[in-house]
Amino acid sequence: METNIDPFDRRITYLRVSVTDRCNLRCCYCVSADGLNPLPHSEILRYEEIIEIVRAATDLGIRKLRITGGEPLIRRDILPFIKLLAATPGIEEIGLTTNGILLKDMAGPLSDAGIKRINISLDTLNPLKFRKITLRDSFYKVMDGIAAATEAFSLVKLNMVVIRGVNDNEIPQFVELAMHHPYVVRFIECMPIGKSGFWDIRKVLTFDEIKSRIELLGSLHQVPSMADDGPSKRYRLKHAKGEIGIISPLSHNFCADCNRIRLTANGRLRPCLFSDHEIDIKGPVRSGCTHKGLTDLIQKAIAQKPRRHYAGLDQESHLCSMSMIGG
Ligand code: SAM
Repeated sequence: METNIDPFDRRITYLRVSVTDRCNLRCCYCVSADGLNPLPHSEILRYEEIIEIVRAATDLGIRKLRITGGEPLIRRDILPFIKLLAATPGIEEIGLTTNGILLKDMAGPLSDAGIKRINISLDTLNPLKFRKITLRDSFYKVMDGIAAATEAFSLVKLNMVVIRGVNDNEIPQFVELAMHHPYVVRFIECMPIGKSGFWDIRKVLTFDEIKSRIELLGSLHQVPSMADDGPSKRYRLKHAKGEIGIISPLSHNFCADCNRIRLTANGRLRPCLFSDHEIDIKGPVRSGCTHKGLTDLIQKAIAQKPRRHYAGLDQESHLCSMSMIGG
């Protein structure tokens, strides 16, 4: 029988779709030192292929999508594609993860196209440090993008990857953002993923350390979790306009509540972010696989979700790059 329940009783309702491996930033913790090495365009799933896969996924109970990359907003015709996704029967919600560079002009149209939730990655509030982390001078474009997103969406989440010695001294400024603006500011543990060669245990601030740094600024009240919170532990500071989240895949893994699978830019289903085990779906979709055949493949990916990931705090891994998977 077809089901979206995996062998560990988790109901999989969420598909994250990486639409490109290309990016307009070169973040040190994400991109390998020798650059992005983008795939030939023919290796990347075409929009109509993604839609076919999404249609098959909805038959299994996938209800929520997130568009990511690489940088999803640099892919041509992303707006009409999102409109088509939003019109797909069974899809109830579409989110987007972006670095914000192109949001100034695109935030309104993205909202009109059907994006309901927007996450913007922002690792520093310092333009010079922005360049150091990303190798690009796009800080002010991102600020304009955040302003436009604030107008266009009822809720904006800002995601900061916390890295010791790089931006951990800015935790107070990010907390201030959540104090004075209605943003959800989320602090994320730096993960041992990709081919950047950057990751090192000494650069990681764990959940406990991030939380205690925030608590130096005021006491945190836990916000009761909601069904669709995802991996973030939610908190609020007294009188704050916004909220704080901490995402700690390493020190407090949330595998028991995992409800997602991933579709990589090159057309592979990835049951777990931290495992390189993938199932090819591009080959079948290109060789005329039936709708039922695609549904079976997605079900296979769900059935192969591991109980938990094994990316530990003391171990480095050299997995497929984050720009292909989308985080
Ligand atoms: N370009 C988009 C963006 O910047 O949001 C979407 C793709 S990006 C790969 C998705 C998220 O993954 C970003 O928030 C990025 O900071 C995060 N990310 C990439 N490598 C990471 C790592 N090693 N540890 C933690 N987060 C990482």
